Amino acid sequence: MKILKCPKCGSYGLSAGCKCGTTRISPKPQKYSPEDKYGKYRRKYKEMKEK
Ligand SMILES: [Zn+2]
Repeated sequence: MKILKCPKCGSYGLSAGCKCGTTRISPKPQKYSPEDKYGKYRRKYKEMKEK
């Protein structure tokens, strides 16, 4: 079972056709942003420095 998301109105559903007339697409899995990645490293680096 796949949850589909309407890119227009943002509603979720199992049917590809949204009630607003837009075809729902499967939402892309959210990858962590580069910002978060570097933030993590920064925090780690800071922890190491403080010890
Ligand atoms: Zn919709």
